[in-house]
Amino acid sequence: MNQTALAVHGGAGTILRSQMTPALEAEYRSGLEIALKSGWEILEAGGSSLDAVEAAVCELENYPLFNAGRGAVFTHEGKVELDAAIMDGHSLKAGAVTFVKNVKNPVKLARLVMERTEHILLAGEGANQFAEEMGVETESDEYFFTEHRWLQLQRAISSGRVTLDHSLSGSDRFTTGPLVRPIGTVGAVACDKKGYLAAATSTGGMTNKKFGRIGDTPIVGAGTYADDKCAVSCTGHGEYFMLGVAAYDVAARMKYKGLSLEDAARETIDNIRTMNGEGGLIAVDGNGNVTLPFNSEGMYRGSISENKGTEITIYRS
Ligand code: ASP
Repeated sequence: MNQTALAVHGGAGTILRSQMTPALEAEYRSGLEIALKSGWEILEAGGSSLDAVEAAVCELENYPLFNAGRGAVFTHEGKVELDAAIMDGHSLKAGAVTFVKNVKNPVKLARLVMERTEHILLAGEGANQFAEEMGVETESDEYFFTEHRWLQLQRAISSGRVTLDHSLSGSDRFTTGPLVRPIGTVGAVACDKKGYLAAATSTGGMTNKKFGRIGDTPIVGAGTYADDKCAVSCTGHGEYFMLGVAAYDVAARMKYKGLSLEDAARETIDNIRTMNGEGGLIAVDGNGNVTLPFNSEGMYRGSISENKGTEITIYRS
């Protein structure tokens, strides 16, 4: 019998206890808790996994600490360009947006792409025009200005390369340029009472990213994927997650190798590590099993299920 379950993440990376104050840690936990609560209310009331992941990701997009929606990072030009995707495992339908500006909740726009267009991915001006047609809520540039992200950009520009605390060693072939991968991309996966699965992911991408850079988040199969076996949302250095087709890789390992969700997800993250990529993912299967593997120092993460209750964790245990 399937168990209802929901998991969320707020990004993976070098999260060290020594660099965290108790107050900040409490804020991160509270953000994850708010997201779990809003998705769980929907699942408990018999709502769909699709509604639950959308609601949970919206909460995380509204929470300024995470790198999505309001708290998104700045591009090299000091702009905020947002990516999001959502996928319904039962119907195998997906919607995504990339390179959008001023949209308060990109995950809502992604869902509209899925439900109201014949396409899967809308980008840039076209996505913003579609947002306007749909009457999607937008916000001014000031809404998306957060000081910590601005300072991150200034540091990235002045260092001229990625040395940040948030990435692995300099052997990483995609971090020789002035890119910085901040922690805070958000995502949710859920299994509802019918055993149907859904996944959603949202991000501002990477600090100091090049004009037009798109990562794994809005690419179905790379950063986000759901079918009837599993739902997956990834976070990490997007270039590697694209090369590893990470989200779909979990489903493929289950389908073709007959692995359990946990083993499949672990192999996927190990494979990303062998490429020198850093990050993690959250995944759920049709029985409500949840797994949250990562190869970085930490990952903001939480889950809630009927048998295990609520668990919120940040560091490696
Ligand atoms: N995967 C995201 C990207 O590369 C960033 C992240 O998860 O931190 O755009």
